[in-house]
Amino acid sequence: MNAVDSARMLSLMSSADYLAAATLEEADLVLLNTCSIREKADQKIYSDLGTLRRWKQRRPGRLVGVGGCLAQQDGEALRKRAPYVDIVFGTHNIANLPEMVRRAERRLPTLALGMEEEMTHWDVVPYLPAGAVSAMVAIMQGCDNFCAYCVVPLVRGREVSRPAEGILSEVRALTDRGVMEVVLLGQNVNSYGKKEGEIPFPELLRRISAIEGITRIRFITSHPRDLDDRTIRLFEEMETLCPHVHLPLQSGADRVLEAMGRGYTRGEYLARIDALRKVRPGMAFSSDFIVGFPGETEDDFRETLAVMGEIRFDSSFSFRFSSRPGTRAAEMKEKVDPQEAASRLRRLQELQAAHTRERLTAQIGRQVTVLAEGASARDPGTLCGRTACNKTVNFTPGGGEGALRSVLVTGAGTHSLVGEERSSDV
Ligand code: SAH
Ligand code: SF4
Repeated sequence: MNAVDSARMLSLMSSADYLAAATLEEADLVLLNTCSIREKADQKIYSDLGTLRRWKQRRPGRLVGVGGCLAQQDGEALRKRAPYVDIVFGTHNIANLPEMVRRAERRLPTLALGMEEEMTHWDVVPYLPAGAVSAMVAIMQGCDNFCAYCVVPLVRGREVSRPAEGILSEVRALTDRGVMEVVLLGQNVNSYGKKEGEIPFPELLRRISAIEGITRIRFITSHPRDLDDRTIRLFEEMETLCPHVHLPLQSGADRVLEAMGRGYTRGEYLARIDALRKVRPGMAFSSDFIVGFPGETEDDFRETLAVMGEIRFDSSFSFRFSSRPGTRAAEMKEKVDPQEAASRLRRLQELQAAHTRERLTAQIGRQVTVLAEGASARDPGTLCGRTACNKTVNFTPGGGEGALRSVLVTGAGTHSLVGEERSSDV
């Protein structure tokens, strides 16, 4: 979500005739788009701000702006802690960015944190690099779930869905520029449009799929409670829907899920996975996990490992619980010892690494279709892209044309595959 907002900022600033600087030394203005989902993210920003203070002192007239979730959360306090920041703007104030920068150029500091603003930035088309074949499209903003640990509803506001018409015209514009894959973004995409009486999510998927030039559709994030049978069935009929679902489980223990306020049990979660596997055998799954949630016992944690063993996720993101101001979990008394939580995280990540290896190795010898996104970072002679199951593949080109290439998988690394381009009928 922040990446899309950054791309929107870039396109707003370019339309106001600002140029992107190649290096920090060259720049006159630095905008930080911040995250506050965990404490680590917000500590990092304060340390970056220290560097920017010195950067500002080196040349008069330089400006610093801080936007995004930390700005929304800390507001005035951020300004007090870092008085050299010229612009503090929240998650709902992106559209006025060029205006705020102009004010700052006239030495008028700005603090813009209103969350009631119209969603004027929704139709700001995010900057897209030339030649991009994949693009993210925000379909909603905010969240109504208030999971006990989560700061998102507080810093991004209540859930609002973007009108379907705007989404569809953005996707059409993207395909005109050569984009073949769209990744639809929302904190809970399965509740798209429900509050506004917009078309339901499965219908949105159908309409996007009907746009000429769209070959792949992905979405993040699905909420296990709201992923309904209609959407699950779509994986059967809609070939453009990629066979990979990111479905954050968070914990495998019902007591912890309950305390987190997630609204599903381990059994219900497993039933969703089964239903998806039934309609698309071989589907890939990924998850998010939190370890050391207040009150989590060793037995609870083992249940998480057990569910992982049952499902065998292709990949996952895992975090130590981080107490966020204003959330229910921040008030919970039974905190888990930080060292114990760190050790659980290590154990979980070791198990995930083994499952990832297993899932990647299973691809060796298969012929897969890769959407090539460009030269690979490590070796410019090879191309890099992703399979429909969202596996990164670095491969030697074999004379094919266009972005979709047929590749024989020849090896597996820790997080990605290697292969050679071969026509599938060889
Ligand atoms: N809307 C998505 C998640 C968005 S936040 C969903 O509900 O799945 C991305 C991930 O960050 C979450 O899935 C969770 O695993 C993690 N996370 C959020 N708040 C956290 C906290 N306070 N401490 C640790 N991890 C957290
Ligand atoms: Fe946070 Fe829960 Fe909303 Fe995801 S669903 S953004 S974890 S409150």
